[in-house]
Amino acid sequence: VRSGSGSRPVPPAGATARAPSGPPATVAAARLAFRGDVPYSLDFGDIYHAADGVAEVERVFLVPTRFAERAAQTRSWLRVGELGFGSALNFITAAERFLDLAPAAGRMHFLSCDAHPLDPVDFARIADARGGRQPLYRELARVYPPRLPGWHRRELAAGRVRLSLYYGDAATALADLDRRAPPFDVWFLDGFAPDRNAGMWTPDLLRAVAACCATGAAVATFTAAGAVRRRLEAAGFAVERLDQRPHKRHTLRALFTGNRSHRPLPRRVVVAGAGLAGAFAARALADAGIDVVVVDAPAPRLPEVVLHSRALAEGSAHARLRNNAYLNATATYASIGIHPTGALQLASSTTPLARLDRIALTFASTGRWVVRCDPVSASALAGLRVQTGALYFPDAVRVPTEDLCDALLAGVERRFERVVSCSPRADTCSVTTTQRNLDADAIVLCTGTPPHWPALRHLEVLPVWGQLEVLKTGHPPRLPLFADGYLVPRADGTVALGATYEQAPWNAERATAENLARYARFTLTASGRDAQWTARFRGVRGVSSDRLPVVGRASDDGPLWVDLAHGSNATATAPLAAALIAEGFGGEFAPMGNDEIALLDPLRFLERQARRGPRHGARSARRRRS
Ligand SMILES: Cc1cc2nc3c(=O)[nH]c(=O)nc-3n(C[C@H](O)[C@H](O)[C@H](O)COP(=O)(O)OP(=O)(O)OC[C@H]3O[C@@H](n4cnc5c(N)ncnc54)[C@H](O)[C@@H]3O)c2cc1C
Repeated sequence: VRSGSGSRPVPPAGATARAPSGPPATVAAARLAFRGDVPYSLDFGDIYHAADGVAEVERVFLVPTRFAERAAQTRSWLRVGELGFGSALNFITAAERFLDLAPAAGRMHFLSCDAHPLDPVDFARIADARGGRQPLYRELARVYPPRLPGWHRRELAAGRVRLSLYYGDAATALADLDRRAPPFDVWFLDGFAPDRNAGMWTPDLLRAVAACCATGAAVATFTAAGAVRRRLEAAGFAVERLDQRPHKRHTLRALFTGNRSHRPLPRRVVVAGAGLAGAFAARALADAGIDVVVVDAPAPRLPEVVLHSRALAEGSAHARLRNNAYLNATATYASIGIHPTGALQLASSTTPLARLDRIALTFASTGRWVVRCDPVSASALAGLRVQTGALYFPDAVRVPTEDLCDALLAGVERRFERVVSCSPRADTCSVTTTQRNLDADAIVLCTGTPPHWPALRHLEVLPVWGQLEVLKTGHPPRLPLFADGYLVPRADGTVALGATYEQAPWNAERATAENLARYARFTLTASGRDAQWTARFRGVRGVSSDRLPVVGRASDDGPLWVDLAHGSNATATAPLAAALIAEGFGGEFAPMGNDEIALLDPLRFLERQARRGPRHGARSARRRRS
């Protein structure tokens, strides 16, 4: 499943979309030809795999790494890394073998990267041809990540197979793994041949692979080039040439001789708050094998909220974080059986048509996750007369908050109390609730806004109140509409109209008046006055000074963690934040770049406060770290 790294010998066919300045917002697709069933790279002048693809995977990668034996012995996670995702043949073949052999509790985390991923159309063609013999191909084709740079996560086979796929340079992907990911058991090195793709076989890259290996990890590669063998040896592997005749002369197997094991997980973690952030975090921690207690002060919750994209047509870390949070969330909801409704983003004063056009143009050929609509096709989707151009996001979903949180928390211990304080003690803490004391190794605050504890005084997070109205109308849209606010059809035939953004809480009547004015601005019906008000919901969002969530350890050390400030967008950011929290406790690698994580770091405010003082609810705090 040979694949390319950052450097390529010929220019790409489709140029990457680049914002006026800054990194590209998309990744160029591999240029393919087909030799029979076998894809051939026009960029590297090489085939992706031999004609007997599955058998080649078996003899070059699975047998030398003792994959079958490792799968059969997997009690929690088998971690497999790969350089070169290509046509996914190694992944699919290994995953299907894993599912055949591993015990029911065993899961596989397969991590791979590709600088020139297959275009979704090419991938669909390959998946279609191979899906009869390898059904997992079809499942992957349905959720195949669009060509946006950075990490993408997909859960397949009812969650038993996790794919973390990086689109971009292998060296950057490995730098993200360094010191974050639990060590890997197996690596497949499958870039195109060293003489055509030198960037995938550099001493630095092979050292970075070694840095991610567990004791006894096995690395396999199809090449037996002397330089690769010597570099693997220099990186700390015992390397062996394997005789592969009559297929080809030799391949390499390398065993990691260093000493590296998985750091121990905490025994018990308290999660405070059971909204979307808390429920996703608790689930991720429980899935990592940690004993979790969720303590939540019951509060009225919005019955349903909508995941919709706030796409940015750029390649900055901020844009990658935002775009990938949405894309990863759509995949997460699909994997837990929440079906998409789709959503339309209409042009409005806050989202002018020119901005929508730029988004559509930038992401046009990356995959079918955003589609430009003219007023006619937008009207057909909405079931109402839409008078502006729009973007259609087919994977947007209506999230039933209460049911989802309950489902995520199934099997997790819950206490319906309020957390009052937390006293750190050496490496652990004592959490005081309104009812009892709980001993734990750590606490994760998922309370929307932070409590007024001295250890959190640096956090710049404030509450912002919001209200939505429930209306009865003879003309509900068929799918959620976003413009200056949103109009969302509900299961009972009513529509939700929202939402206000109140820095200080307004009178509910004033908020209703503002929302109703918004309804008129949707201008969907002749008069805009056909609706009958029936109810309202009020709630609070935690919003940080830079509008980004605040996720990670609250100070340089200590047992206090936060997962706060999801603003108006927890449906997108809570799943990703939960992965980051789980990784912080020694769980699986979170699909995020180091630069994206830095944007969420609770300590980020300290540097700003050193320059311009505390703001946005923070009180002065001094950084303890030098
Ligand atoms: C009117 C309105 C409309 C919205 N529409 C959307 C939308 O369409 N899409 C979208 O993505 N987002 C929307 N949002 C935002 C969304 O609701 C938030 O992003 C989301 O609720 C944040 O989730 P959370 O888990 O971080 O916090 P919350 O949902 O606020 O949950 C925090 C939980 O912590 C509990 N808690 C607080 N303090 C303590 C304590 N000391 N001890 C124990 N428990 C405690 C609370 O009772 C609560 O259960 C909307 C918000 C409002 C107000």
